[in-house]
Order: sequence, then structure tokens, then C-alpha cells
Amino acid sequence: AAGDDARVTRSICCYCGTGCGVRIHSSAGRVLTVDADPLHPSNQGLLCSKGRALAGTVHHDGSRVLSAQWRGSRSERRRDIALDEAYDIAARELARIIETHGPNAVAFYVSGQLLTEDYAVFNKMARALVGTNNIDTNSRLCMSSAVTGYKLTLGADAPPACYDDLALADTVLIAGANPAFAHPVLYQRLAAAKAARPDMKVIVVDPRRTDTCALADLHLPILAGSDVALFHAMLNIMVWDGLVDDDYIARHTAGFAPLKQRIHEFTPGAAENICGVPAQDIVKAAHWFGRAGSALSLYAMGLNQSSSGTAKNTALIHLHLATGQIGRPGTGPFSLTGQPNAMGGREAGAMATLLPGHRDPGNAAHRHEVARLWGVDSLPELPGRTALDIFEGLRQGRVKAVWIAATNPAQSLPDQARVRAALSRAELVIVQEAFSHAETLAYADLVLPAATWPEKSGTVTNSERRISRVRAAITPPGDARPDWQLACAVARRLARRIAPWKAALFDYDGEAAIFAEHARMTAGQDLDYSALTHEILDRDGPLQWPYKPGKAPDPAASARLYQDGVFPTGDGRARFHDGGYAPVAEPVSAQYPLRLTSGRMRDQWHSMTRSSLETALTRHAEEPRIYLHPSDMRRGRVSDDDLVRVRTRRGVLVLPARQDDALRPGHTFLPMHWGSAFMAGDGINALTSSARDPLSHQPELKHSAASVQAA
Ligand code: SF4
Repeated sequence: AAGDDARVTRSICCYCGTGCGVRIHSSAGRVLTVDADPLHPSNQGLLCSKGRALAGTVHHDGSRVLSAQWRGSRSERRRDIALDEAYDIAARELARIIETHGPNAVAFYVSGQLLTEDYAVFNKMARALVGTNNIDTNSRLCMSSAVTGYKLTLGADAPPACYDDLALADTVLIAGANPAFAHPVLYQRLAAAKAARPDMKVIVVDPRRTDTCALADLHLPILAGSDVALFHAMLNIMVWDGLVDDDYIARHTAGFAPLKQRIHEFTPGAAENICGVPAQDIVKAAHWFGRAGSALSLYAMGLNQSSSGTAKNTALIHLHLATGQIGRPGTGPFSLTGQPNAMGGREAGAMATLLPGHRDPGNAAHRHEVARLWGVDSLPELPGRTALDIFEGLRQGRVKAVWIAATNPAQSLPDQARVRAALSRAELVIVQEAFSHAETLAYADLVLPAATWPEKSGTVTNSERRISRVRAAITPPGDARPDWQLACAVARRLARRIAPWKAALFDYDGEAAIFAEHARMTAGQDLDYSALTHEILDRDGPLQWPYKPGKAPDPAASARLYQDGVFPTGDGRARFHDGGYAPVAEPVSAQYPLRLTSGRMRDQWHSMTRSSLETALTRHAEEPRIYLHPSDMRRGRVSDDDLVRVRTRRGVLVLPARQDDALRPGHTFLPMHWGSAFMAGDGINALTSSARDPLSHQPELKHSAASVQAA
């Protein structure tokens, strides 16, 4: 029963980028229940199965990292040490490596699970103290193609729509996304809108007939990786049928004429051959989109996790620019962020290819501005390593030390054999982690015990650019500390060794001070929320950026971007930017005839460090399986539950088979969640490919050529 100190804390669900408001009911330092915050505008009182089960993931004996640990050599077992000793060791070892090998021998691999304040501190430590741009995040696996797509076309990394648009669109094009599993509350909001407005047309583009297809009026089960050809064909049809908005194109865009020439060859018949869907269905999709009063696109990993992820994003955005379907209610190309704070990390610039406030590390003026705002002389020029390159650098011995925070690369990165070889060869691996069963801990020399939801305070930004306060409901167990505190404690000690005057750069008296410094860095930028503070968020509730202060701020002004048709591109015009159609990086062959794609299950989250703790969640899918079309099961003489060998060019796993007629023949599906902590071998990502998009550096987790044989 709740004691005298029973309290309700309003916070945010720690799972997906929907960013649902929750109420944490706690007493005597324990979370009792979690329910929806009815006042949060993003979820409007709704939660999904994961959000509703949050309380069951908090208190589990043996599941947490409770103290710092250290081993002086790989042949030793780690021993528990005091936090102060851990901070000193981290500073001493990092200083030694910087002095011996230079600052670029150090890298930081952080996470979309971090709060914006955590991100801001890590980014400042990497660039302003250590002097390297080697900081990247697991968001590289999630939305970096969306970032490059938005920047190349619209001029800024900013989703232009908002969740209210789900109810206002006449046509909703869902491409490479399964919101029924990955963003369930948005799916619920869309389902309610479709029930209220049955004339709304929903088109789903996905090689699988996912649960999201329950809402689809038209499902285009395209061959994996052929999205650009589909979008080019849709645009070509709209041009031929007079459905593009010539006036909008002329007044607000540039580059349409050459694109129009290039898409000429993508006739419905040509697209049918490439995409494997009937030409008449492509024509129907184009007509529904082009004739809609308002057309909205929702997209996620099916476009982003691709060796042509940027081209897929821009080809989809072209449909909106050519028809003027942007900047109005119910319109816009709306990228759904996977993680709870991938957006905040983009704002804080904690990626190798970004700087704070949507600035560019390759731009000398931007570097100078950020250096001035941080109070240092300069920032490093040498381009930083993105996620996969950090681990490749470790494998080759060019990067000596990596500090990993709130992410589990020994499960989640593709091509695990290379990742594990990289971690084994590193001179120093610091792992800042909350959960004791994270696979990456096996490679840690130094472990820093991290606090986690619901023990941390700060802010996150969700997919609709809404900044919300995350609030601690209970104190962390053992020696666990919020991520920013661990980072600052080491940064101050490291500064005393390599640049003593910089120690003061990491003297913050709390999360609000970090946010204030971070928010100031957005002044004058497209996302400007320089006037926003924790205090205002506590008073006014979650707010979208850009944020303009005033006695009565107009929420409609921030709800949608580009309402005036002016884009942040210098000349105000959006750009058509054709990356061209390219097939998947790893074609199928006689030896590897199947297209293997990985993705989410409804009730699990990423590498399951948290979601596996609640049995109500594990019931939905208790073990990893390989899903196969019935014709492929017959061809391989395989029945349900038979063990099969799934092989790619990188590895082999033995898994039970499951027949699934929602797949196209020749396609297989593998849930992404299981790592070596939960199954034999190196986990699901032993099989996946590290081929990547040349601009976004995002790996093609959605496609590998594979074979399946009875074990
Ligand atoms: Fe949490 Fe996402 Fe579910 Fe909302 S939709 S409750 S943010 S997992």
C-alpha cells in the first residue's frame, strides 16, 4: 500500500519517439504503477502495452549495475570500486591515451535513450575538452537518413508536421514503417481518425503485410529496397496526369525540371518490374496522393536503414514538394523517430556530422560560433567517425578508447563479429550502463553505474518537435548516477590533467543549468528555443520548437513548419535532390536466395535490457524465430518450429522457423531484439549487413541476402 510519501510524478515514457506523457505513482522509493498523463498533448491519455507495463520493469534484484567496476587487464575479473576511484581511473586512462595517440584515438558512442542534458555534456566533453569530433550515437542506426533527407530538400533537420495532422489528412502514405508495433499510440490515433473519417485513404508500402495494414485501403508489398523507384513512378504519374502544383513548384522550390527529366523512365510498368507490385496499384497510389486535399506521409526505418536511405527520403519528400502538400494541416513528410530522444540528440548536435543547434561541423563559422558559446578557443576540424567507423577504427587500432553510454553495441550494431573483434582489440572500453545483462558489459574495462528511467530528470524531444520534461520519481539504486553527472565528474578530472582551466566548463548545479546553456545555442537557428527553460516547461507543459516566448504563445505557429512556403535554404526555396535509384547493396544470389529483413516486435524494445524484465511483455514473442513465406517453407521442406540454419555472408544462426503468409515469397523476417544474453551465438545481428548509405552513414539493417536450410 502507498505510504505517506505516495506521490505522482509526471514524466515521459522511455521507449519510442512518440514521447507519451506518463504519470509515475510511487511510494517509499518504489514505483507502484504507471498510467497515461491525460494532459500530455502527444498521447492524449493513450499508452501502448510497453508504456502500460513500465512499472513492472523497474525493481528486479540482480538486474542493475549498482557500483563502478574496473579491471587493470583483460585477464582479470572486474572488481567493484568506489565512484571517485572510477572517475580518477577514467580521467587518468583517457589522458594517457590522448597524450600518447592524440585526441582522435578517443571516441564516444552515446544513445537516443539519453536525455538532452546528457547529450549536451557528452558532446561538449568530446569536442571542447578532448578535442575530437569522434562522437556518434545509436541514432545513426535509426534516423540519420531522415536527417540528410530533410537537410538536402527542406534545408533543415526538422519534421514539418505534427501528430494532430494524423486526424486531418485525406490520404496517409505509410512507407517503411509499422506504427502498429513501433509507434502504437500514433497508430491508435490514426485508427481513431480513420474510424471517424472512413473516406480517409491509407496506403501502406511494406514488403510485409504488417499489423499496420489493418488500416490500409491499399497495400503495396514492394520488394525490399525498391522504394525510390516507387516514389519516382508516383511522381511521374502525377506529372503526366496534371496532379502536381506548378504554382507551388515555381514559387517555393528549385530543381524540379532536371528531376522531371530523370523520372521519365519510371513508368508504371518499369516500376512494376523493379518493385514487384502491379502497375495499376502504383497509379492508384499516385492518384490518391495527388488528388488529396491533404496528404501526409509517415516513414521510419524501412526508408532510413538502407544503403540508399537518403535517396529514399528525398524521393518521398519530392512527392510533397511537387504537390504543395506541406505546411498545411494534414500534410507533410513526417519522419517517425525511433528512440525517445533521437530528436534531442540531433538538437544537441551529439553526432559526428552535427554540431549543437543544427550546425555543421564542416562549416568553420559554425565551429567558431559553438566554440564561443562553449567558451573555448576553437573546435576540432577533422571530421569525426560515425558509429560504424568508430568500431572499425577500434578494430584497426586507430581508435584506442571508446566510452559507450546507454547503448548496447554488442547486440545492436550489424555484423557482430566485427563489432566484437573491435571491442576486444580496444585499449580502453568504458561502459556507462544501467542494466547488468547488457551484452557490451562483457567487453568493459571500466563500468560506470548509470541511473535510468524513472530515476533521471531532464528533457526529451519527440517526433513532432515537442520538448517534454522527464522527471525523477525515485532515487537511483546503489552508486548509480544520472548520465550527465558521471560524464561531468570524469570531465572535470580529465580537464585537470590536460587543460585545467576547462574543468569549470563542467560545473553545473543541475539539469536546468545544462538545458539553459544548450537552449542558448539554438538562438537564431531554425529550431530556436533559446528562450525556453525547465521552469517554463514545468509551468506551461510540453512545447514544440521553434519556441517564441510571449504572454500567450500561439501553439499553431510551431505546430507546422513552412506554412509560409519559405524554407531555411538561403534563398528560401526547397530543393528537389535526386539521389537516384540504386538496388540493395547485397543482391540475392543462388547461394543466398532470400531477402532477410529485421524489425521490431510489438512488446519488446531494442536489445531488451529493460523490456525483458516484464513477463507480460515477453509473452507476445517468447523467443526469436525466422519468419518465412509458406512457399519458401515448402521449398526448404521445413515446418513450423523446425530448427533451421539462417546464413548470410557474415554468420549463421540456428532458429525455429515460423510460417508467415504476410511476407512476400522470397522475403524473410527476423525480430531485431535478441542478443547473446538471450540466445546462443552472437545474436540476431550476427547476420545483418554493415553496408551503408554514403551520405547518412546509416547501415542497411533492412536487407541482407540469406539462405535458410533445415538444421
Ligand atoms: Fe511508450 Fe511509445 Fe508506447 Fe507511447 S507509443 S507508450 S512512447 S512505447
